[in-house]
Amino acid sequence: MSIKLKFCGGTRTVTGSMHLLKAGQSQVLIDGGLFQGRRDEFYRINTALPFNLPDINALLLSHAHIDHSGNIPNLVKQGLKSPIYATSATVDLCGLMLPDSGHIQEEDIRFVNKINKRKGLPAREPLYTEQDALNSLTHFRPFDYHQTFQPAPEISATFYEAGHVLGAAITVLDIKGNTHPIRLVYAVDLGRNNLPLLRDPEIIKNIDYLIIESTYGNKEHEPIETAKGRLTDTVSRTIRRGGKVIIPSFAFERTQEVVYFLTELIRKQKIPQVPIYVDSPLATDITMVFQQNIKYLDEKTQNQMRRQLDPFGFEYIKYIRSKDESQMLNDDRRPMIIISASGMCEAGRILHHLKNNIANPANTILIVGYMAQNTLGKKIVDKQPVVKIFGEEHQLKAEVVKINAFSAHADRNELLDYIRKSNSTIKRIFLVHGDDEQSQPFVEQLTNAGYKPYLPQKNEEVVIG
Ligand SMILES: [Zn+2]
Ligand SMILES: [Zn+2]
Repeated sequence: MSIKLKFCGGTRTVTGSMHLLKAGQSQVLIDGGLFQGRRDEFYRINTALPFNLPDINALLLSHAHIDHSGNIPNLVKQGLKSPIYATSATVDLCGLMLPDSGHIQEEDIRFVNKINKRKGLPAREPLYTEQDALNSLTHFRPFDYHQTFQPAPEISATFYEAGHVLGAAITVLDIKGNTHPIRLVYAVDLGRNNLPLLRDPEIIKNIDYLIIESTYGNKEHEPIETAKGRLTDTVSRTIRRGGKVIIPSFAFERTQEVVYFLTELIRKQKIPQVPIYVDSPLATDITMVFQQNIKYLDEKTQNQMRRQLDPFGFEYIKYIRSKDESQMLNDDRRPMIIISASGMCEAGRILHHLKNNIANPANTILIVGYMAQNTLGKKIVDKQPVVKIFGEEHQLKAEVVKINAFSAHADRNELLDYIRKSNSTIKRIFLVHGDDEQSQPFVEQLTNAGYKPYLPQKNEEVVIG
């Protein structure tokens, strides 16, 4: 029986994580992530699948981020029949995030088709619809951390804490080898120690082969604790000058982390108690999922909740779903904090808040997440003097502050430290989920540390047993 790994996506790049493990007759997909890029490339890459979908025995999903889960509705639409295994928190989160992703694609295609119609071009179909995403949810089977299950005859699997986002798992695959069992560990994405709300990544022993992310293989983050100090200073300074703090934030995890810190700072009276709004229906729903999945939160947060201290600040923070309430914020002149999505300022309600507040020097735009090239968020981080919002030019006069410490991905020292702590004689380390400028230097660093790293090409197949 030969055991092979095929790297089908999310290699030499960050998005679109998807890998195939073949052991004898068993075929297991690890993640079904969406490749995120320009529209034509997006369709071409997400629909080209280098395997036969009905042959797949199972899909093991590491976490709910769209770059890991977002192609699942398309896989099911195209013929995936198998169960999809994930932690119960991930299942709950996918129940919100996949239909939302379908909705975004329908909206995008509606916009494209308007233009195509004018040009006499044929109408296009979305990769998948909200309904396709809802259909795919029936395939999900929840398993908690440390519960071993058998996704295929030759393979057993166990999820461990990844410390990355709520419900994120390091997946340990124990494969019946020809002479002895083989342990393959998938640590993508790998979190960091001391992230708010979450437990630290669990160390796995006896690893034969490791697939690990390299998003920040050539970077060092500020410690997460520094975020609190910077948040305190930024909010206090803005409130003093009578301004608003506008925080573009991903609806999943980053919003809850910012809320957690703000709640703590108010409780400790480190910042004045001004109105705080989370203006995003998705972020509001996701925060509910956090509250319903207390067992996935760290002991500190669980203790707080037992003492009736709500980490999501429902006594201080107003969560907004309705459009009317959202629009009312435009005319409210009081100093306040508004957290809204999308995280990179490409769509959603954040655009209205930026439009209304970007030209006032009393205000602050606080950047807490990654901004990809060519996004409005990136233009704001780069402090371009004039930016376009809804097709109109606006002067950027508000203060812009960026806090890097919020990252949920291990940096190069944390990755190396994690590998060292496993204390295993690892035969090979496959680096995925990273652009070359991050992963290449990490190959060197691992080689110097005595490991055998390997940077697979897309669709490359490697024999591991
Ligand atoms: Zn992730
Ligand atoms: Zn990822």
